Amino acid sequence: MQRKSIHRKQFTTAGGRDFQVSYFTVAGTRPGPILTIIAGQHGMEHSGPNLLPELIDELAETDFAGIVHVCPCANPLALEIDYEFYPENDDLSKIDDYYYSIFRHYYCPWGYGRGDGETLYNMNRLWNHDGTPGVAGRIASWLWGEICSDANVIIDMHSLQADKPVIFNNREKSVPLARLFGAEAIMMRDPAPNKYRGGNLSWQGGIKHNQYAFCVEFSCQHGLKESEYEWGKQGIRKVMTGINMLEGEVVHQHPVWKVLYKNSGQVMCAGKAGHIRYKVRLYDYVRKGDVVYEIRDLETVELLEQGLAPNDGLVCNISHLPVMKVNDTVCWIADAEKIASSGEVLDNLPRDFFEQ
Ligand SMILES: [Zn+2]
Repeated sequence: MQRKSIHRKQFTTAGGRDFQVSYFTVAGTRPGPILTIIAGQHGMEHSGPNLLPELIDELAETDFAGIVHVCPCANPLALEIDYEFYPENDDLSKIDDYYYSIFRHYYCPWGYGRGDGETLYNMNRLWNHDGTPGVAGRIASWLWGEICSDANVIIDMHSLQADKPVIFNNREKSVPLARLFGAEAIMMRDPAPNKYRGGNLSWQGGIKHNQYAFCVEFSCQHGLKESEYEWGKQGIRKVMTGINMLEGEVVHQHPVWKVLYKNSGQVMCAGKAGHIRYKVRLYDYVRKGDVVYEIRDLETVELLEQGLAPNDGLVCNISHLPVMKVNDTVCWIADAEKIASSGEVLDNLPRDFFEQ
């Protein structure tokens, strides 16, 4: 029996462009949970879209319990222009003069940047939405009805710009699933988002009592980071193992930290100007007084400042700036709880977990 099936739907943009979106369903070999994986909502985030086709083929040859739905490229036209969304009502030619730079991370050629307010071009604000504005909303509405509204677990794959991947998670109940994936940090987000922010898939996907969702953020936008693809596939295998879709046990080679939402950890700012040299890595746990960074004068090369951790915590949000000015943000030493240790065998969730 063919266990993999392909599902496609055609859409038309406001400008009259026809295109289609595909998802794949792989049926397991025995009953079990429904896992849905979505990637490519944001067009500059290419890791999920690139690793998932291989995972689909692998799963089609693997014995597992349950059903896996995978949509690798939820927003093909946004991926085509390597931009967060597809501005179907605006002047598309503006993308021709656009280039991304981390030094203008939030710049938007159409004036809908993250700092400019809300835009319903952003597919990840349109899930389970009462209107379905635009083509992004129609795609989300279709995928929601087909593969999301009944899923037990939704993994939504994105990318940000950092040295390492991370997980974003709104709900406490999803932490036991998110820690299975194997990111070093799970950033807890607003447990009561407003309507706009609450339109994201990992919030909507966890509303019902037997549903859980979280967001995996790979660490490169507007480019490829193929070194993370196997990590991403392994994370999905680990989640499937932990929820008893695959046999085995889950062990991570590093600790997993939960970064608290209400957080009193302090942001560190440069006290001097000059080249910065970090003495820690992203998601290292530091103690108050540990050396986090050093700043050297550009002319004399003298050591001007040693930045000492203001509190115990996890090193987060390391700046991309190579040269600091006084008061530039360097990093954040966040309150965090260790929720898995290196080498620890994590307990699988109870076999009736999704029936409780
Ligand atoms: Zn994204």
